[in-house]
Amino acid sequence: MIKKIHVLSFLCAFLAVSLLSSALFSRLFQQGAVILTGNEPKEQRVIVIDAGHGGIDGGTSGSDGTPEKELNLAIAKKLAALFTVSGYTVIQTREDDRSLAAPDAPKGHVKQSDLDARLEVLTKHPNSLFLSIHMNAYQGTPCRGLQVWYSQNNEASAEYALTVQSGVKAYLQQDNHRKIKAATSSIYLLKKAINPAILIECGFLSNEEECEKLKNEEYQKALALAIFASLHQKMRCNT
Ligand SMILES: [Zn+2]
Repeated sequence: MIKKIHVLSFLCAFLAVSLLSSALFSRLFQQGAVILTGNEPKEQRVIVIDAGHGGIDGGTSGSDGTPEKELNLAIAKKLAALFTVSGYTVIQTREDDRSLAAPDAPKGHVKQSDLDARLEVLTKHPNSLFLSIHMNAYQGTPCRGLQVWYSQNNEASAEYALTVQSGVKAYLQQDNHRKIKAATSSIYLLKKAINPAILIECGFLSNEEECEKLKNEEYQKALALAIFASLHQKMRCNT
């Protein structure tokens, strides 16, 4: 077990170093948007990062067949590395390509079983901030841009959603005029979450140009940094 932890720490540090050497990080750092040490947040120190879908559930897909689940995981891992090196406790619902459904879940209940398992992770960490990472799709339209949904069960959720939506606009997508949206009952995890909870639709896989960007490692790093920097700045200010 100790060996495993060492390897994971190394991988996490390696990923973080690669993220921190990106051009966007330099810009954010110079602007004072990212400070990695000192003045760490006293509340909401635990972040539950949920890479949507996984295993047999690929989620939506791009016109080239790129499954949403892969991109969700790639961005979730980068976010996890950034929060970890900044002193947060990070819990990931999945760290590889798998479903969280119980192996004996009856046919027709596999998706629900998967969602229940994710909710269970969240419930175990009642003082956490929940970030669910997804990709959007709206076939036959040129829709693009990140959009954040928030749970209506906790007042702070809308604030966190606005923080990410406006932060990504400022740092990465100046032409993004999308507004945050209150989750309807169709987003099960946000309907059930009691703690602050948001779902980030990182972009539209139905838009070929945006799909190409979302598959690009450098763009994934920039997106993860923009999301992280927005939230970290808010959480430092809250203390
Ligand atoms: Zn999804």
